[in-house]
Amino acid sequence: MSTLSAPYFHDEALAHEELERRLWSTGPVCPKCGGRNRITVSRGGRVGLYRCGPCKRQFTVKVGTVFESSHVPLNVWLQAVHLMTSSKKGISSHQIMRILDVTYKTAWFMTHRIREAMTEGDWRAIEQDHAV
Ligand SMILES: [Zn+2]
Repeated sequence: MSTLSAPYFHDEALAHEELERRLWSTGPVCPKCGGRNRITVSRGGRVGLYRCGPCKRQFTVKVGTVFESSHVPLNVWLQAVHLMTSSKKGISSHQIMRILDVTYKTAWFMTHRIREAMTEGDWRAIEQDHAV
């Protein structure tokens, strides 16, 4: 079975769950106030959207990570991460564009961000404070 057959590569909600497992080992953490209590799931909204009771901020696990502020579904991001980290000689933006069927601009943005995270060794490689 191909490693790319893992369900979280093909389903956005499962991709969120996968990233949440990796980044929030003890449950959701509010990126605004750092709170862990009274965080509820925002139903009917975007995939993986949470709401912090104390500060009323809505957020997903992507806030503060290299996956933030992108229209590309998280499962496609995880495919790009897999391709880039499993390719011994590296992979070009053009290859990412062709394999994932995204525009060159999107592919370039993704490879740039992923390389940034690989260099830092952390998905939370970007420091930002703005809305989801
Ligand atoms: Zn909060």
